[in-house]
Amino acid sequence: MARQYPINFCPVCAERLERREKHGAMRPVCPSCSFVHFCDPKVAAITLIEREGQVLLARRAMNPAKGRWTLPGGFVECEEDPRDTAVRECREELGLKVEITRLMDLYYGKAHDSGADIVILYAGRLVGGAPAPGDDVDAIAFFGPKELPELAFASTRQILGQWQVQSKAVGTVSGEIGYRDRGGEPESDPTV
Ligand SMILES: [Zn+2]
Repeated sequence: MARQYPINFCPVCAERLERREKHGAMRPVCPSCSFVHFCDPKVAAITLIEREGQVLLARRAMNPAKGRWTLPGGFVECEEDPRDTAVRECREELGLKVEITRLMDLYYGKAHDSGADIVILYAGRLVGGAPAPGDDVDAIAFFGPKELPELAFASTRQILGQWQVQSKAVGTVSGEIGYRDRGGEPESDPTV
């Protein structure tokens, strides 16, 4: 079950909640308006974008895993289609216009304390935009299966491990889309 902050007061009417058996479990219940608090999982949508046998990765600008690379993605907002989340995160984090092409897989389990409980993995296709990292990202680049950089989370390693096995391309690091303007890495860095 998702680890969440304890909830003590009703978000609808502000009455103090009581723990009662409701729908098969002990849950915070409002004695005044009958609101029931369900501890729901956090859901994230991430996208694997390939181009000429390479995968698009973003380098995290914040902890956890600052400086390590991951697939673009983020939390699904309330009442948001997860496909729209995936597209939105690519636009916000990377400045790139992406089209979702198919659902690839679904993963359960937190990669870290503030991570998602359920991760939806889409395949996507780059259709436009210019790389422009948002607040969470400080570098963007394509990598071939044999040149993957240090990856952020066990889940990222698992997904890209499967991708490496399935990928027949040898690939080299592309310089075409790389973007890096924070941190002062050497200009000769092949991921730039
Ligand atoms: Zn209430």
